[in-house]
Formats: sequence, structure tokens, C-alpha cells
Amino acid sequence: MSVFIPLPSDEPLRAIWPTPNHNLIVASEKFFARTRVNPDYGKPGWTRDCGRRFHRGCDIAPINVTPTGKTTRVIFTDCATQTDFESDEPTFIPHDEVFAVCPGKVIELVTGETLSDFGKHVVLEHRWPRSGEKFYTLYGHLSEVAINGQRLGKMGQTSRSADARNWMQIAPHLHFEVHNTSGAAYNPDDFLRHFCFAGGHSCRRTQDELVRFQRGDGT
Ligand SMILES: [Zn+2]
Repeated sequence: MSVFIPLPSDEPLRAIWPTPNHNLIVASEKFFARTRVNPDYGKPGWTRDCGRRFHRGCDIAPINVTPTGKTTRVIFTDCATQTDFESDEPTFIPHDEVFAVCPGKVIELVTGETLSDFGKHVVLEHRWPRSGEKFYTLYGHLSEVAINGQRLGKMGQTSRSADARNWMQIAPHLHFEVHNTSGAAYNPDDFLRHFCFAGGHSCRRTQDELVRFQRGDGT
């Protein structure tokens, strides 16, 4: 069961990637943040707590990342047996820049790291080009908010939830989500696949185009 609302896929929106990680189409295993026991951790949908908790955003993994050389203790669940086990996992600091997927108006700008579960974050208001209806994009867990054109700041690990901060130490990411005026979420994975552009090329590719792209003789 999906609780995402349908994307207005006939809208001629041209979006850009929210971070330098452009792997969604060609190498999606490098796009979403993952943990050692949950390869679906950063994907949108019922991907948390062994499928019991819904993730309305997608967690985009950093491209530029530094290992700290330290570890932090997390409690993993073996979903097959519903058994919890503790593990000391390596931690990382992300450095990627974060961009608005399309120009918009800042309607929420939170610069205190413990004021929200999204930590330092930005919410932008946009309009669908054809219908004129509003929609919103959210960029969460930033380390710094510094808006300059479409650049919003830098990926970080901020949240008021100590548990979330701990998970972000081992799986740093940008939490990106898209919702409508009632707060209902679009699938952010579908949004990016459908509307984003990289180097001027649409991500909306046919299977043939994808194969040529992966072989290196397409654009
Ligand atoms: Zn998330």
C-alpha cells in the first residue's frame, strides 16, 4: 500500500538534483543512504523498522564524505527473527552542497539544530507550471543553512532526536521530501526520476535511452 499521492506527471517542470549525487537512475544503490542491515534505509515508503514505519522522504547519500575513524553504537533489528542486536558502526561526516530542485520561495527556515526532528532545514514553496497549484520541497538535517540563489546550504546530521542523530552518524544523508498544500507527500524518488535534469538532460528516460547511457554512447 502506498500512501503517496499521484504525481502530476504531465507538468512541464524542470528540476535539478538536490545534491551532487546523480546516481538515482544509473546506480540507485549509490543514491540512497543505507545501513549495514537495511539496504532500503534511505528509500521512500515502508522502509523503516522492518516495514512498520513509513518514510515520506528519501535520504540521499553524500558523494563527498569523510570517515571519522570512530564508531557509534546502534541497535539493529534482524527482521527475519525480530531480534535486536547492538553493533559498533563506523561514522562519517558528509560535505555535499544542497540545492533547491527548482526556484521557490523560502517559507520555513530553521537554523537551530534541536528545534525540529529535521534539525536545520529549509522548506520552499513552488508552483506547478501548468496548474499553478502550490507544492513544497523540504531539505532536512543540514549542517549549515546559507541560501544563495538555488544553493541552500550543506548536508549535515542535525535533528532534535538523539536517536536520529546517531543513525545519521553511520548513514549521513539529505532528507528530501515533496508535498502538496494539505501536507500529503509525493514519492520523492518518482519526483526526481520524472522531473530532474543533470547536465541539461532529462532524467525521464526510456529503457533504450538508459541502456545507451550506461554503455556511454548516449546522452
Ligand atoms: Zn529521511
